[in-house]
Amino acid sequence: MLNLKKKHIFIIFLFFLMLAATSACYLFGIGYGSDYNNILFLIFIALFFIFSITSYIATKIPQNIKNTMLSLLIVAAFMVMLAYIELTFRFNAYSSIYLIFSLITLLFGMADGIITVVYAAVLFLTKDYVSSTPYGRFLFYSIVSMISVITIGLLVAYERKIIDRLKNKIATLQEAPVEFSLKPGGKVDSVQYSEIISDDGLKKEKNRLMVMLNERLFNIVDTLRSTIHAFTVILYLTDNDMKLKGREISSNSEWITMDKPLSTDDPYIGWILKNKKSMLLNEIKGDIKDIPYYTRNEGIKSFLAVPAVRANDIIGIICVDSLEVQAFTDEHIKLLTVISNQIIDLMDNIELQYKLRYDMYEKGAMYTFVRTLSHHIDASDIAKASLSEIIRITSASAGIFATKNEHRSFDIVFTQNIDKDIVGKDLFIDTEPMHDGILENQLSVNSQVMTSQIKLLYPALYNLYTPDKALKYTAIISLRGKMEEVGLIVLFMESTINERISIILDTLINQVSISLYNSILFDKLGKLAITDGLTNLHNHRHFQEYLETEIKEAIRYNKPLALLMIDIDHFKILNDTHGHPQGDRVLKKLSEIIMQTIRDVDYAARYGGEEFCILLPSTDAKGAYKTAERLRKKIETSAMKSDTGEAMKFTISIGISSMPEDAKNKDELILHADKGMYGSKENGRNRTTIYDIIGSKE
Ligand code: GH3
Ligand code: MG
Ligand code: MG
Repeated sequence: MLNLKKKHIFIIFLFFLMLAATSACYLFGIGYGSDYNNILFLIFIALFFIFSITSYIATKIPQNIKNTMLSLLIVAAFMVMLAYIELTFRFNAYSSIYLIFSLITLLFGMADGIITVVYAAVLFLTKDYVSSTPYGRFLFYSIVSMISVITIGLLVAYERKIIDRLKNKIATLQEAPVEFSLKPGGKVDSVQYSEIISDDGLKKEKNRLMVMLNERLFNIVDTLRSTIHAFTVILYLTDNDMKLKGREISSNSEWITMDKPLSTDDPYIGWILKNKKSMLLNEIKGDIKDIPYYTRNEGIKSFLAVPAVRANDIIGIICVDSLEVQAFTDEHIKLLTVISNQIIDLMDNIELQYKLRYDMYEKGAMYTFVRTLSHHIDASDIAKASLSEIIRITSASAGIFATKNEHRSFDIVFTQNIDKDIVGKDLFIDTEPMHDGILENQLSVNSQVMTSQIKLLYPALYNLYTPDKALKYTAIISLRGKMEEVGLIVLFMESTINERISIILDTLINQVSISLYNSILFDKLGKLAITDGLTNLHNHRHFQEYLETEIKEAIRYNKPLALLMIDIDHFKILNDTHGHPQGDRVLKKLSEIIMQTIRDVDYAARYGGEEFCILLPSTDAKGAYKTAERLRKKIETSAMKSDTGEAMKFTISIGISSMPEDAKNKDELILHADKGMYGSKENGRNRTTIYDIIGSKE
């Protein structure tokens, strides 16, 4: 690549000097072929040669002793050649020598070589034609010199164009959208937002982002080095401790370190840190102690460092250096300033985009969470959906979800990663002390204890499940909906939940609590609609519906089904004797005894005032009779006293009808059970009658 510096300006100056000297020779009558003319040419050639060769040695092969020796040998060989040519071809020797040296410089890849070769070739080839008149020769020299100057000017312009192109390149680099994604791959839909916003997920994504940013920074540094032909380009940026540390480097040297942080004690850097200004040094010795990133003296001649300043703070420094003297100009300072600003922008951009993306994923996590919860009305479904999500977000290892029960304790409804079957078990935890915190507007997750302490603090939990020792921390989160505690979440974790996660978790916990509260409310409302308020048995309406489905089942599976119709004997008298409230107590007592007597699969309802019915699936009349008699006897012997202490004896009459023997459908089944019951009344009360028996009597 072309590399035009102050050296070239000096060459241009020499061209003009040549022009002036030659003109002077003619003007003052010193003719062609005079010694002055020849000597001037020889001086110019020698100077040019020395410039080219030394700059080549300085830039191309400095680190390697073998190559340096070789270069010196080449120089020596040329000197010998110069002497030889001078002696052998005395006639027009200067043109030949000029041509040869130009060719040599061209061989070394010097841009000046191209110009001088053309220049010398023109002189050499045209010497016979233009040497006839002094004025013709003067004109010719002038034209060729001017062309050379213009060519060098064009080359300088070309160089400028490259710098402009670099600026554009950096600008496009900066403007290019910073493409990065927090999602671990695949479609966004399939992404577990909660996994991304967990601490582990975030760490992974941050690392990914760092790798990407570093790649970009390296691209900038590397492009910069190749464009301005620097020996080394190094970018320092502040780390978390606000120390300037080497971030990216592109260098020709192997003796380089990025680990040494910059300090105010560094001779050059110290000055920059103090003055917050750029430093351009074009002729230095390049001592190791002067330049902080070399581990041996590389013979740096030019050094340029530009600080990146934001709000009066230096957040980075770009250093470029060169083995050539006068390698950098004010133009380079401008360029590096633009680049350092763009690096600041790039980093700000990435930071901003990261925050936006994070926000998006946090909202995504909340949204999916709320949406998932809204699908469920059942407490165990809510538990399942929320516990797994909460475990993902908190990076917890295991968890328990429990709902509050009537005994001021909790029922475990769902567990995750717990190798013991504790679902359905009762868990007593005193959450009162936690609520104080919540009422003071603290976060829900206000009880994180060392797992080693749970034996002491929550013995019931410890007895139920002892977590692995690795799970050092236990969080107990009370779920409260509308100021009423509805449940509990226990998390076992390797590390505590930090504040960021706590804040997210708080919103989720609120959602779970509300959903759970609604589910309990819904359950209550549903129960209310099907329950008899006095006895807590199912009501008449529910009985009718239930009976219908039971009959269908019985028919489909070809199984018997028995119905018991129960009526209290002389209940009117009991009411009249003790008063209606006492009568109500009797109704409740009867219901309790019924519930104690029947099986889990059986079903009891209050049919009417003091009439009850019991459904016995998979039971024939004979089996039903046994149950009825057991119940009847229990009632007969139950000792009940009124509020005033008087004995309240009561008995019941029972009628039984069964399918398929006694009935084809629901109405028949009820009617025939009723008939059986009236049969019992007719036969003296306090007895059980199977419809079949009276049916056959009729
Ligand atoms: P029997 O059935 O033996 O022929 O005599 P009975 O006195 O029980 O007669 P009946 O079934 O006709 O009377 C029903 C009585 O039950 C009438 C009513 O006062 C009473 N009763 C109905 N519902 C309630 C209730 O909810 N509470 C109370 N205390 N009494 C009720
Ligand atoms: Mg009655
Ligand atoms: Mg009655």
